[in-house]
Amino acid sequence: MQLFDQQQIKVYNTLSGEKEIFKPINDGHVGMYVCGPTVYSNVHLGNVRTFMSFDMIFRYFKHLGYKVRYVRNITDAGHLENDADVGEDRIAKKARLEEIEPMEVVQRYTVDFHNILNKFNFLPPSIEPTATGHIIEQIEIIRKIIDNDLAYVVNGSVYFDVLKYNETKPYGILSKRNVEDLIHNTRTLDGQSDKKNPQDFALWKKAEPQHIMRWPSPWSDGFPGWHLECTAMSTKYLGEHFDIHGGGMDLKFPHHECEIAQAEATNNVAPVNYWMHANMLIMNGKKMAKSTGNYILPNEIFTGDNPHITKAYSPSVARFFMLQAHYRSVLDFTNDGLLASEKGFFRLMDAINLLDVLKTSEKSSFNISEWKQKCYDAMNDDFNTPIVIANLFEAVKYINQIKDGSASITHSDLAELKDSMHAFVFDILGLENATKSNTDSDKLSGAVEILIQLRQEARANKDFALSDKIRDELAEAGIQLNDSRDGTTFSTN
Ligand SMILES: [Zn+2]
Repeated sequence: MQLFDQQQIKVYNTLSGEKEIFKPINDGHVGMYVCGPTVYSNVHLGNVRTFMSFDMIFRYFKHLGYKVRYVRNITDAGHLENDADVGEDRIAKKARLEEIEPMEVVQRYTVDFHNILNKFNFLPPSIEPTATGHIIEQIEIIRKIIDNDLAYVVNGSVYFDVLKYNETKPYGILSKRNVEDLIHNTRTLDGQSDKKNPQDFALWKKAEPQHIMRWPSPWSDGFPGWHLECTAMSTKYLGEHFDIHGGGMDLKFPHHECEIAQAEATNNVAPVNYWMHANMLIMNGKKMAKSTGNYILPNEIFTGDNPHITKAYSPSVARFFMLQAHYRSVLDFTNDGLLASEKGFFRLMDAINLLDVLKTSEKSSFNISEWKQKCYDAMNDDFNTPIVIANLFEAVKYINQIKDGSASITHSDLAELKDSMHAFVFDILGLENATKSNTDSDKLSGAVEILIQLRQEARANKDFALSDKIRDELAEAGIQLNDSRDGTTFSTN
């Protein structure tokens, strides 16, 4: 029996506005799509928070034994400056300003994105597709939407006909808007636009002569609209109907609304069962913005090189800090909050390290199974990490009491406690043990010890050729083995 048969998850679904019992489309499998970054600048800490929320969710499904296909895309074309259908392509603009190729911009900030996420101990998604790698699929979808009479071509561009779509399916179903209000609230067209109605959005845009990022299509040399890539890539890798679609709150409208409309217009099926949105990150109670100086780059947290923080924090401390808020709550990033998290983090790590040396007794004075289920219950309740962490500190208190001799634990309970602490802290929350020795020199000694052991085995088997080879090649790498009666040690020079 898999863990997922014992633990029933409730997910807050933006679509229904309620927590719903999670039922996967295929037993034991989860398909999850999350809108990734537009790689034209360093990744924003708010985006890191969003991706961290889904990393934690990905980790939890995996922990329960689900086979998860997690797709998170890279937007490397089509995202115009104002999120709508006008303005310059964000990547092309950066390329123009820095006098480099658009793909150099993409490469630089994709690498930056991966570096930052690696530092925060993210698991890589199962697939990380790019918009430019899926132009053919996007053209195919446009063709189908035109065939279904829900898009029109004007001067080489293709627009989605929102009003026509809304005659049969509700546009605005996710963000709880209705088309009448949208019409009322949108300013009238200035005559420059090819759109029939201002609510319509671009599926394909004909490229101006100066637009560098362009592809041939049946309608013009141009580029796809920003919303289309996610429909193309989620359909390709997860199917026309999949379990979870996630992203930041700011993407609900228009981006996710348009994704729903595109998918419905193509396949005549609602694409997603559960829409999940992570809330915003603010700093010192205010919106984070470069222009006001109320801003920090993720990397500056690790170097301490920012006026809003008093010291450098390790990635695990920052991760712990972020997971102390529920993913649907606004998170206020403050130095005081980080300092408090750092204290808590080390208390947690000290307790985990104590688990290796605790003495066991005949009886336990704490119900481990009950405590463990409380941790699961918190995760099952829409991934409530702050409650999980509160429960972890219950265990920390108990561990310290065992150490003081004011509480006791049996051998098998200690094993279960250790397993569960490791599972929740390292596998699910994705923290890394910062107090344990994990410097490069510790890793080197570990590796050399393995080779010394292998050499002893070779000698015991009278395989002197192999034992000499190990000694000589280590010497060539600058590591001397010193044999004595007490065993073998090594030195480096
Ligand atoms: Zn998207």
